[in-house]
Amino acid sequence: TVRVRFAPSPTGPLHIGGVRTALYNYLFARKMGGKMLLRIEDTDQNRFVPGAEDYILEALRWVGIEIDEGQGIGGPYAPYRQSERREIYQKEAQRLVDEEKAYYAFDTAEELDVMRKRLEEANAPAAQYNSITRMQMRNSLTMKAADVRARRDAGEPYVIRLKTPRKEEVRLNDLIRGWVNVHSSAIDDKVLLKSDGLPTYHLANIVDDHLMGITHVIRGEEWLPSAPLHVLLYRYLGWEDTMPQFAHLPLLLKPEGNGKLSKRDADLGGFPVFPLQWTDPFTGVVARGFREDGYLPQATINFLALLGWNPGTEQELFTMDELIASFDLTQVHKAGARFDIQKAQWFNHQYIRQCSDLELAPTVQQQAEAAGITCSLEKAEKISALLKGRVNFAHEIFTEANTIFTAPSAYDEAIVAAKWNNDAVRAVTVFRDALDSFAGEFLADDIKHTLADAMQQAGIKQGKIMQAMRVALTGSGAGPDLMLTMEIIGKEETIKRLDQALN
Ligand code: GLU
Repeated sequence: TVRVRFAPSPTGPLHIGGVRTALYNYLFARKMGGKMLLRIEDTDQNRFVPGAEDYILEALRWVGIEIDEGQGIGGPYAPYRQSERREIYQKEAQRLVDEEKAYYAFDTAEELDVMRKRLEEANAPAAQYNSITRMQMRNSLTMKAADVRARRDAGEPYVIRLKTPRKEEVRLNDLIRGWVNVHSSAIDDKVLLKSDGLPTYHLANIVDDHLMGITHVIRGEEWLPSAPLHVLLYRYLGWEDTMPQFAHLPLLLKPEGNGKLSKRDADLGGFPVFPLQWTDPFTGVVARGFREDGYLPQATINFLALLGWNPGTEQELFTMDELIASFDLTQVHKAGARFDIQKAQWFNHQYIRQCSDLELAPTVQQQAEAAGITCSLEKAEKISALLKGRVNFAHEIFTEANTIFTAPSAYDEAIVAAKWNNDAVRAVTVFRDALDSFAGEFLADDIKHTLADAMQQAGIKQGKIMQAMRVALTGSGAGPDLMLTMEIIGKEETIKRLDQALN
């Protein structure tokens, strides 16, 4: 059965692109009836950031990605945090040394620097530790066995490096990108185990994917250059026949399409690039989140799902279940996906208008209260019903409702000049007087009848004076349904505003 993993490093808040990676893993797992794992890749202790792991878990929960197994949940291959699995990696690294597929290297930082300089002077293509240069360095291939042992016994720091073959073809068939061929001479002798006894990303990642029974590695394109090295590692570890299949996802591009989306684009474009707000524990700097900016989780996943994939139909709105049903890993695009924040807003608009009025009302009520205006929940619900189709975010309803909450302090002059004529004044007066004898609950339907009756008595066509009526009540010439607006404002306030306009 299919087993996929999301394997973030807790080096900071999860980038929105990371959420997309997690989402594609999740959609694929669910579609195939498989399992989704969460593994925390925290072997780079220099880059560890407190709070990042909790942030990752909360972000996944918020967007509705359910993890079946892994950090925070448990499972048969626990622990799922790599820093707690160091003996496992050490054992495999040692096995590679024993089988002469890896070696100890004792070079100091200064010695490595000298080599780098020498290669630079010789105009060598890239400064690297490889099948040729390794023979001039201090490692278990060039030193006597007794010397190696003595240095290790004495506690001299060393790393374990992969003994990359000189001439070997490395190929992999990526589910999205097709065949990738690399010659092993392009791969250097990567460090597998660092001098602190912790593995590098490459070793830990391969060992865990193997031990945890991962069948598909779905991750960002930035890892494609590492994939041949990973294939080589599977080969050397003797696990090539159960090697997972790879799928490298396209990059997320800046809104203008010019290059990769970076964290800095957020400041420039005024949009979030993180799922949740994040406060940097070292600097206190706050980065915006989709959640706090007012995006709904279902809008966020719908938007992300279509960044790099579509079902090949016109359909754009998908619930999570619909995404699972239509998702196809082999249909994921090769080309980068433009991060179009306007599209994200459009999705949010679609989902906000589908929200129930009761869901939206508390936001309206809280904002009103914060502005010193009392607003019952019932009124907030009616306002939500009236305005939710006109906004992108729940918090915009209150702003949009300002003509409901406060009487106009000015009137749109162009509308006044064009529409506020004798007929309008007479019509508004007749209607205003009719409201005096209005009995019962002040509801849109009854208001409408009252208005129609009044206009008939006055002999004025209703269509001709509606804009004048609107400007009298709200100050502006356009807006949502006027009868409902009056219902929400209430009879007393409606009469007051009409009087104010007539004076
Ligand atoms: N820890 C890596 C990251 O942070 C995982 C890459 C992979 O999925 O292999 O992206």
